[in-house]
Amino acid sequence: MKLFKTFRTFSNPAGNEQSVKRNCPVCGHDKPRFLWDISGAPFHRCRICGHLYQYPVPLQEELVDRYGDQYLDYEIENEQPFFELMQKALSDVSFTDHARNRGFLNGRLLDIGCATGVLIDHYSRAGWNTEGIEICLPSARYGMETRNLTIKTVTLEEAHYPSGSFDVIHASHLIEHLADPRGFLSEVHRVLADKGLLVLTTPNAAGAQARLLGKRWRSVIPDHIHLFSKKNLTSMLEAEGFRPIAWKTWGGAARGLLPEALKKPLDRLAKSCGAGDVMVILSERV
Ligand SMILES: [Zn+2]
Repeated sequence: MKLFKTFRTFSNPAGNEQSVKRNCPVCGHDKPRFLWDISGAPFHRCRICGHLYQYPVPLQEELVDRYGDQYLDYEIENEQPFFELMQKALSDVSFTDHARNRGFLNGRLLDIGCATGVLIDHYSRAGWNTEGIEICLPSARYGMETRNLTIKTVTLEEAHYPSGSFDVIHASHLIEHLADPRGFLSEVHRVLADKGLLVLTTPNAAGAQARLLGKRWRSVIPDHIHLFSKKNLTSMLEAEGFRPIAWKTWGGAARGLLPEALKKPLDRLAKSCGAGDVMVILSERV
């Protein structure tokens, strides 16, 4: 039970936010096919590229209001397992080697959606020059007060960083929450240095669980506005001036769905064929 609790996916129900019709961020098409209503969140699939997303899309300013005290409790409760997963994801794409090869070791690192700051705290202690962005005010305050970190409580766009401010940008389980992920990548590109690295972790909409479970997939929740396949995320990254250089997926079977003896080999299989439940993509700014 404890494990299930640790790995549950947090979500608020869709509120009465204003929403707007936005074109598919991957291919630009504007007439997606309706799939499911999930607690008031209208999930659609793009008829051209297959991208899975909410349509219409809630306004980003209003989405911000979803992340309050309740989210802090969730973040604190899961801080350690989330940190370990982020470390694992970075190791899976050989992040340290790629950073070293570009002369970025101990460089300028921005973690967007940094929660209580556990990752930037780690890198800061290792000698990196770190900064975080977190729209959940209680989480950001916790990181600033207990860890003495620099965390801005605005969106990336509102932070108005000068161009080329960072060598590395990390965003774990962030891009699926954004109303405009394409605009976000464009701003990431601007604030990254030449050949800067971007690490994105997000649910894998082309993974085995997503395909098998459909609307019962644990990532189909109101807080997830966009759910990407590797193909579609890669395509969007390339369109915004990034070159994906490494990727991995992990997680074959949802915890609690199968006995542990079956889960382990399925996890290994999913990882080896790229059908895992979550993916990490490391890209270079070009
Ligand atoms: Zn599309």
